[in-house]
Amino acid sequence: MPVTIVRDVPALRAALRPARTQGQGIALVPTMGALHEGHLTLIRHAAASCRQVVVSIFVNPRQFGAGEDFQRYPRQEAADVANAEGAGATLVFAPDPAAMYPGGYATTVSVARLTEGLCGAFRPGHFDGVATVVTKLLLQGLPDVAFFGEKDYQQLLVIRRLVADLDIPVRIEGVPTVREPDGLALSSRNVFLSPGQRRVATALPRTLAAIAARLAQDGRDVAAQEAWGLAELRAAGFDAIDYLELRDADTLAPIDVVVRPARVLAAVRLGTTRLIDNMPILPPEGVP
Ligand code: AMP
Repeated sequence: MPVTIVRDVPALRAALRPARTQGQGIALVPTMGALHEGHLTLIRHAAASCRQVVVSIFVNPRQFGAGEDFQRYPRQEAADVANAEGAGATLVFAPDPAAMYPGGYATTVSVARLTEGLCGAFRPGHFDGVATVVTKLLLQGLPDVAFFGEKDYQQLLVIRRLVADLDIPVRIEGVPTVREPDGLALSSRNVFLSPGQRRVATALPRTLAAIAARLAQDGRDVAAQEAWGLAELRAAGFDAIDYLELRDADTLAPIDVVVRPARVLAAVRLGTTRLIDNMPILPPEGVP
């Protein structure tokens, strides 16, 4: 069956009605398009768990700040639809901004606390835009399960929070980050990197992996590892380092020692391109 493309909410609901009445599972994979292996991995997970797999493609203007890359964000719908279908999508939801935010639109979903630090500190309003559009997508499609990448770890926790807080009846599944052979996390923004910037970029996952390995051995000196990592990133040639921080994996609270699952998260800039990455850290064996 070729994938169906729908562009507004009534068409989405109509397309999903037969599946819903037949009790088929419905999975949703929200994306901004420019699909790569990371997105396709989410779609494959979705197809493994549900008969109906909705992939949304929407470059959400509300999650871009003034001066960010909304205008130049890569758009390639025809290729995306073919790739999504190849990975198992049954329906593509590709609304216009006017279908998502018609005249008179006035509502924002805002998640407190989790959104305050890390990317939230450098991209004011970004997580309000994300929380709002994801809430809308979940209520529009009413999927049984929705898949999100750990690549955007703070975003994943924000979505888990809003789903719990607003009693949205959906299961949220996080999927580990898909990487290039040299470790760089796949991102739609990697196409903006020059060959020289692309070489520098590998220092990001390398530094995070080194910190994770060191703290898995000895979780006592988080501050020293953060300082080491910042120095590594500075020496590697990034144009700016927004942050490199160790946080609790569930609450994103700052930590001094690793005694519970933690996460090392960073955001850096190469020219006008901003890259983010994060990795898990398990407490050293023997820590209670
Ligand atoms: P985006 O199109 O960038 O908004 O991403 C759509 C979804 O794909 C989000 O849940 C991302 O976390 C996820 N994603 C993006 N890059 C990767 C990656 N390299 N590995 C796994 N998931 C990813």
